[in-house]
Amino acid sequence: MSAVLNLNRGNQQQQYTSTFAEHWDDLVGWEARLAREGHFYARLLKAQGCRKVADIATGTGVNAVGLAQAGFEVTATDGSENMLAKARENAAARGIRFADSKVADWLHLDEALGHAQFDAVVCLGNSFTHLFDHEDRRDALRAIHRVLRPSGMLVIDQRNYDRMLDHGYDSKHELCYTGAGVQVGPVELNPRLAKFEYRFDNGSVFQLNMYPLRQHYLTHLLEDAGFVNVERFGDLQRPYDPQGVDFVQQVAFKA
Ligand code: SAM
Repeated sequence: MSAVLNLNRGNQQQQYTSTFAEHWDDLVGWEARLAREGHFYARLLKAQGCRKVADIATGTGVNAVGLAQAGFEVTATDGSENMLAKARENAAARGIRFADSKVADWLHLDEALGHAQFDAVVCLGNSFTHLFDHEDRRDALRAIHRVLRPSGMLVIDQRNYDRMLDHGYDSKHELCYTGAGVQVGPVELNPRLAKFEYRFDNGSVFQLNMYPLRQHYLTHLLEDAGFVNVERFGDLQRPYDPQGVDFVQQVAFKA
């Protein structure tokens, strides 16, 4: 845990307190989310012949569990012990066993995973946006690249910050990552910071600081780290309107 705090310069993991981890499931809205995106990711991975998958931003486990239920051999990692503990609990409650689960910072993913190789790495639910330094993003993508087998696939899913920055936040579009009884929106939004606030019906309020990654920039980062054939989806579809969708998925391959 101390390694995570030292290495992640924005100390992002400190945002994920155990109380927040407890609330995250309400935020995620598991059933709706898996119904909406589960088939998409499973299809994408199966089409590439993937079996061994690392979810490196497991959070409380929605995608890691969904992929394990779909038959993939899932290694679940996260930089936050609080989130991972909840993921293990959620997996056990559904009778799911992860192939492995451990705390791992993206910057040192290969060391944390004992230099294992995966067919695919997924980083979903607006997670990669937690890195605030260009160098950290570059180093994290290089570490991810190292844990993939040749032709392995990386999937990164994040909010459409281009639309937010260029046109302002539109709460009507807030559709896919929130369960009932949670209100989500930015309380600060500029090219360097998207501070999101999460208001729960029970009165709890949490805030998360994120870096508003633009779509083209992330594609360039991926290519710079050695990924090829980067494809983008918007709200899980292609082609898509880059200024119209809520979330963007980037799929990239190790040469
Ligand atoms: N994918 C999950 C979901 O959709 O519910 C969790 C999303 S949550 C917005 C982001 C997750 O990324 C958190 O669990 C956080 O601990 C993790 N995270 C942030 N920075 C990280 C880093 N540098 N290394 C590993 N995990 C990190």
